Amino acid sequence: MTERVGTEPSVFTRILRGEIPSEMVLQTDDVFVIRDIAPQAPVHLLVIPKTDAYADVTALAAGDPKLLASMVEAAKVAAQRAGASDFRLIFNTGAGAGQTVFHVHAHVLAAPQGLDEGTMTGGMPDGEEA
Ligand code: AMP
Repeated sequence: MTERVGTEPSVFTRILRGEIPSEMVLQTDDVFVIRDIAPQAPVHLLVIPKTDAYADVTALAAGDPKLLASMVEAAKVAAQRAGASDFRLIFNTGAGAGQTVFHVHAHVLAAPQGLDEGTMTGGMPDGEEA
């Protein structure tokens, strides 16, 4: 399990504070959803808890499973709003798996209905193949 390291605010906390611009697509009491700055699919969103207490999904699942459930619900709502009822939900977990921001977040990858599935990239959100 990886805890947050360091005292600097994460890039996502800085986005939440309005210090870094982003395209916010959904916000609840405990979660926010933005468009990924480097999209790997026609729809590529990031679902992020407002708290930065959890570095990755293993820490979150152990520490606050209800918040993890809130993230999954926000992913569903945000994907639907983007025109996709089906989506991939990916948690890169650990640097070796491509995680670069150690403030837990889920990648939502989808193709809006009507778009050819072939427009979805087959790779992982960091560009690596699984
Ligand atoms: P990961 O590599 O799983 O930690 O994912 C981090 C994600 O954050 C990457 O897909 C980046 O493209 C994305 N990202 C980094 N900075 C920003 C930003 N300022 N706005 C939106 N997405 C960002």
